[in-house]
Amino acid sequence: MRTYLVTGGAGFIGSNYIHYMFKKYDNEIRIINVDKLTYAGNLENLKDIENRDNYTFVKADICDKEAIRKIFQENDIDRVVHFAAESHVDRSIVNPEVFVQTNVLGTAVMLNCAKEAWELEDGSFKEGKKFLHVSTDEVYGSLPDDDNAFFYETTPYDPHSPYSASKASSDMLVKAYMDTYKFPANITNCSNNYGPYQFPEKLIPLIINNALQGKDLPVYGDGKNVRDWLYVEDHAKGIDMVQEQGKLFETYNIGGHNEKQNIQIIHIILDTLQEMLPEGDPRKELVSEKLIKYVTDRKGHDRRYAIAPDKIKAEIGWYPETCFEEGIKKTIAWFFEHEDWMKNVTSGDYQKYYNDMYSGK
Ligand code: NAD
Repeated sequence: MRTYLVTGGAGFIGSNYIHYMFKKYDNEIRIINVDKLTYAGNLENLKDIENRDNYTFVKADICDKEAIRKIFQENDIDRVVHFAAESHVDRSIVNPEVFVQTNVLGTAVMLNCAKEAWELEDGSFKEGKKFLHVSTDEVYGSLPDDDNAFFYETTPYDPHSPYSASKASSDMLVKAYMDTYKFPANITNCSNNYGPYQFPEKLIPLIINNALQGKDLPVYGDGKNVRDWLYVEDHAKGIDMVQEQGKLFETYNIGGHNEKQNIQIIHIILDTLQEMLPEGDPRKELVSEKLIKYVTDRKGHDRRYAIAPDKIKAEIGWYPETCFEEGIKKTIAWFFEHEDWMKNVTSGDYQKYYNDMYSGK
């Protein structure tokens, strides 16, 4: 039975990954989830699996070397899947330091503890141990508007925000461990994810939540910034496939080939909400294009991201299974069924964050 150490498993992608893995492997694997439970970590995301015998939650900071070392000493870890990070660009513009702390230092701690646990006396590593570092396409910088260019694994890094700079630094550390020690790792760089359990500071859940309440739908700048969107379960599947079928020491880009302007995303969400809300539901009256409100652009806002997932397709056979129309319907249906989840995460500190972000401060 393989034992996984998942970091940041109480967050958006991490919790979807844990659900995906139990659905796929059931009792063939064991998962230890280590998460600090920041504002973005939520154990409610894992309610339905928390009592499994093959699942353990450990509340710890990945920067806490002793806590992480203890997990490796007490368990024979076979796989590390490293999600834990500060993940929101806007927050990184306001407070970059915590991004360096968690994303760079935390990754160094994870690498070092795994190396310590897995390294043999001759400097090689125990058979079958693997570390997967989950990263972003934002490390590659920005592409021009009207270009057919894509990000490839060979595209030079050119991060612009404190978030992407911290993720780029963490990727470089993983590369350094692979180059220096032949540490058994992979890096995945993925485009924007959407789906269940996504915290509503990110575009898609923010728009769904605000539209259903008749609140303004804030759009940065001219709304024409382009992102490539991938349904989160397709990402989870890609991570598992890279770890099991990918070549060690390689980077794989994961993307949806689904480029859309932010304003297009908003129109699709509004149309889909109208289609899915039943006749007579009072929210149908609230959902309207009139709610769209253009706000001052994000500082240093990258214009266009577009991933070329050619390598992962050719070498591993992964492809995005969920088209955007289907994925957005599944996401909206999930939010309809989990109104309490949304109410809980948008109470308290979220309100202050939201007011600070969009009141022009
Ligand atoms: P998220 O913010 O939803 O979740 C991050 C999780 O990490 C939370 O549970 C949080 O509590 C935990 N965490 C934060 N700091 C920690 C620390 N110091 N110690 C332990 N746990 C800590 O993020 P997400 O959107 O799920 O992203 C997960 C990973 O995927 C990140 O590394 C991110 O860079 C990467 N990624 C995200 C996207 C996306 O679209 N969301 C796309 C590509 C890559």
